[in-house]
Parts: sequence; structure tokens; C-alpha cells
Amino acid sequence: MRMVLMMFTMSKRQPFNLDAYLRDLATRPCFICGLVSGDPAFFHHRIFEDEETIIFLSKYPTLPGYCLVSPKKHREDLAQDLSTEEYLRLQGHVHLLSRR
Ligand SMILES: [Zn+2]
Repeated sequence: MRMVLMMFTMSKRQPFNLDAYLRDLATRPCFICGLVSGDPAFFHHRIFEDEETIIFLSKYPTLPGYCLVSPKKHREDLAQDLSTEEYLRLQGHVHLLSRR
């Protein structure tokens, strides 16, 4: 029988620094733009990409193989920021992915 010994060190808890968190959010790209640009700080395993869509594995999956499907260009509101044709192409990728 193989035993795994895990050691934990107790460290002093640090209070959450909301100002630093908000400053970080305001000055860095969103994680999808970071991923698309190839910034290693935003690395995710890419499953698929074409000119306008990227599909990648979630770093925090709630199910095995949990993927995110996103436009490659920065978008904040799918209803307002995508044309009907862009939205339907994106959903076409979601449909294909879900069937696999
Ligand atoms: Zn973005």
C-alpha cells in the first residue's frame, strides 16, 4: 500500500485587499483577452479556435471536460455586442461541442 504524506504549514491569514483587487481588475486584460493574446499568465488548454471563436478548458471545472466558448474579441454583453449572425455562429460552436 502506498502512503502519501502531505504536510501543511500554517501561515498567518492575510486580509483580502479589495483596493488592490479592483486596481488589478482595472489595469489588466480580461482573462479571455489575455488567453487570446498568448499571455502565459492567462494560459488555458485550447480545444479549438478560428478567426472569431475560441474554446478552452475551464481551470475550475465543475464537470470533467468543462469548456468555455467565447468570441475572441472582447465582448461584455452577448445580446448587445454581437450581431445576430455572430451570435448564431458562436452558438453553432456550442452545439457542436455539446454533441461531442
Ligand atoms: Zn476581453
